[in-house]
Amino acid sequence: MADIIKLLPDHVANQIAAGEVVQRPASVVKELLENAIDAKSSTIKLIIKEGGKNLIQVIDNGVGMSETDARLSFERHATSKIRQAEDLFKLHTKGFRGEALASIAAIAHVDMHTRPEDKELGTHLKIEGSKTIFQEVAVTPKGTSISVKNLFFNIPARRNFLKSTPVELRHIIDEFHRVALAHPNISFHLYNNGNELFNLPQSNHRQRIVHVFGNKTNVKLVPVEEDTQVVKISGFIAKPEFAKKTRGEQFFFVNDRFIKSPYLHHAVVAAFEGLIKSDTHPGYFLYLTVAPSSIDINIHPTKTEVKFDDEHTLYAILRSTVKHSLGQFNMMPSLDFESDQNLETPYSYKDKSAIVPKVTVDARFNPFKDENRPGTAFKQFRKEKAQSWESMYVGLETKVEDDTFSSVHFESDANTGSIFEGQHGSLEAVATTFQLRRKYIVTTIKSGMVVIDQSRAHQRILYEKFLRNGTVKDTVSQQLLFPLSLTFSKNDMTFLKEMKDSLGTLGFMFGSMNDDSLQVTGLPVLVPESEVDMVLDQLISDHQMGVDGNSFSQIDIISKTLAKSLSVKTGELLDNDSQLALVNDLFACKEPNISPFNKPIYVTITENDIDKKFI
Ligand code: ADP
Ligand code: MG
Repeated sequence: MADIIKLLPDHVANQIAAGEVVQRPASVVKELLENAIDAKSSTIKLIIKEGGKNLIQVIDNGVGMSETDARLSFERHATSKIRQAEDLFKLHTKGFRGEALASIAAIAHVDMHTRPEDKELGTHLKIEGSKTIFQEVAVTPKGTSISVKNLFFNIPARRNFLKSTPVELRHIIDEFHRVALAHPNISFHLYNNGNELFNLPQSNHRQRIVHVFGNKTNVKLVPVEEDTQVVKISGFIAKPEFAKKTRGEQFFFVNDRFIKSPYLHHAVVAAFEGLIKSDTHPGYFLYLTVAPSSIDINIHPTKTEVKFDDEHTLYAILRSTVKHSLGQFNMMPSLDFESDQNLETPYSYKDKSAIVPKVTVDARFNPFKDENRPGTAFKQFRKEKAQSWESMYVGLETKVEDDTFSSVHFESDANTGSIFEGQHGSLEAVATTFQLRRKYIVTTIKSGMVVIDQSRAHQRILYEKFLRNGTVKDTVSQQLLFPLSLTFSKNDMTFLKEMKDSLGTLGFMFGSMNDDSLQVTGLPVLVPESEVDMVLDQLISDHQMGVDGNSFSQIDIISKTLAKSLSVKTGELLDNDSQLALVNDLFACKEPNISPFNKPIYVTITENDIDKKFI
């Protein structure tokens, strides 16, 4: 048999390697920024067009490359960073595999200008799909500028796989944040389609965090400091009250390199235990310094995972260090985290009375009249109500006096009161509802009972109300006596500006909108002033998490977020009137059975179902 094993041609090998190194434009950004840092630059500029699909350019003022080095740098396994295997264990640089530039040049159009300080003239090099187009002498500033154009031009399948421009830009910005946060002593600039998104001067860690995430971050930060033989820890944690619904601001750096470590993350979360609600996430920016020989950064091609020699010790030190900071800065006593833990009530809701709309209830209203099959009962009810539900929305204060209701009624107390005695205070309430475990509202119907998830029900009610507001011409907006000034990161502001019109339609009114702050002058009637900050933050984080994936409009997205943020939560105690109002409002909705996030809102349990249990 003839020999069949062949060595892959270099450009094929490079393309394969590129698949590992370059997943998306953000991966190119990471590699180029890291090279610029390794080149000892003090200023680095990143220029992006169309989410990096058309252009990624990094300009640095670092050491530059000689003519030979410039050409060699695009060869596979070409690196100036290690010479022998032992070097791997004392790495202080970001790169060492020598495959980033080769990989990038295999799948894009690359143009490089570079000049070392001691040379008068530099080198201009053009490579397309691993092919050198030309190399010439050029006049160019000290340092290196690399442009990467038309990423994946020769791998259409990968190019088509790229996400939308905003999504790719988001990834790039995330990568930029990681690098910029790790190196506050370097000044960074980011331009997107000609606009300056970030201008980060040389500073210290705290200032860098504030520059990246906006001025309001400063008050949130609590310093963390520890120096042991195993590890030196410095950085900041965000105060517990600023814990977020998303995992956005969580950063570990090991020897100035951003890493992901679920294990260390767990250590930090453990330190926050009892201080934050279980579904919120603490913010942290933690810089760990360990001996380079005690870690292995080679286990992942994109190098965001690290293996530590002594993970257990590190875990313990980290947890107690964070705990110590929380204690030292008096976080502990100010929060009464012992009491009522099982209520799972977020702190922001603690002192708040439930925002259940005050409705004048027609207690005689029973959507289930004369129906034995509950499934069809709701449909039937919805049909009957098709013309009249809108009138309920116009204002919640509208008293329901529709004829449709006159003949329906809830089961009276007399029938069921003996079971639920004492559960409802109001003697006037004729209908029977009660709250189960501060989570469900149970109400009786002719054929049995309905168990309603209070939070989802309220989400549905609010959602339809906001949607409706978004489609009527003159939304009622309540003017604020004193405009509210709120600060956001530049990034978040870009997003809020995009949403401005839609927010306006829903009743939000804005005064000035700057690069990192805005003024709120008016609010939708349903949004309390104290919640604005939270609501806008939620909107931003939903956007970052891609929650808006299947929404049909901005109004829809915002309505969902508002509904989620403002709804009654599990754990909130509702009085009897509020329970009734919730039930009535729910069944006046267009789609009472499904929450805005496609979760079931209630279940019905018929007498029949119950009877069966007793057989
Ligand atoms: P690695 O960073 O793993 O060494 P790369 O393919 O990223 O591999 O880069 C190859 C080599 O090119 C580097 O080792 C470095 O010598 C040189 N190089 C790359 N980018 C720059 C830059 N911005 N300034 C100076 N030298 C650079
Ligand atoms: Mg590199």
